[in-house]
Amino acid sequence: MARKFFVGGNWKCNGTAEEVKKIVNTLNEAQVPSQDVVEVVVSPPYVFLPLVKSTLRPDFHVAAQNCWVKKGGAYTGEVSAEMLVSLDIPWVILGHSERRAILNETNEFVGDKVAYALAQGLKVIACVGETLEQREAGSTMDVVAAQTKAIADRVSNWTNVVIAYEPVWAIGTGKVASPAQAQEVHDELRKWLAKNVSADVAATTRIIYGGSVNGGNCKELGGQADVDGFLVGGASLKPEFIDIIKAAE
Ligand code: PEP
Repeated sequence: MARKFFVGGNWKCNGTAEEVKKIVNTLNEAQVPSQDVVEVVVSPPYVFLPLVKSTLRPDFHVAAQNCWVKKGGAYTGEVSAEMLVSLDIPWVILGHSERRAILNETNEFVGDKVAYALAQGLKVIACVGETLEQREAGSTMDVVAAQTKAIADRVSNWTNVVIAYEPVWAIGTGKVASPAQAQEVHDELRKWLAKNVSADVAATTRIIYGGSVNGGNCKELGGQADVDGFLVGGASLKPEFIDIIKAAE
């Protein structure tokens, strides 16, 4: 089964209401391939989700950047999966390396979040990836496999999961993985899924690449056999995000 190209835009903790409106206008005016060819999902900060959802073109969708690990309650400052569902937010990004590193989110905690969000009906962009130190030590695949295993241990239905392979050394650094480096990890990750989950999940789950993707490097990266799209940070705030969406063609 063909895997539909997926382009996510992670706006992180950026933007004012005015800036967000401008980004939405730019996206709304863009000529891009149809929904049959590419799935586009943008992820504004929580506070802008209702604004973006209500003003964004209907063929693009929205994602939250995180959600709480279980049912809401006395967890000051958190946002629950149930709240997102009640606002018809279809997607959530979980396990981003910034949260793993700065907020000490462990593999198990991320796995629990993925399982809980899926159980509430959200679709999940689950992020994995190694640090530079881990790559240089030759443990890239061990790290990525352990992160994925924590999800696989808790999830049986992968239909609503997209895996984002995001090498930490490439995020926000301008040091993009080469197409061969990205393809190598995506290929190994797919083989890991085939061996440890199922051949069907390996064949159908989209594995997207994130880390300094831009209008100039997207075409070659997106042309790799196992690269099924992108999670884009910095460039998703700029008009070049449109060029990245067009890499699906
Ligand atoms: C990200 O934060 O998910 C990301 C890929 O960032 P950037 O594109 O800026 O490297």
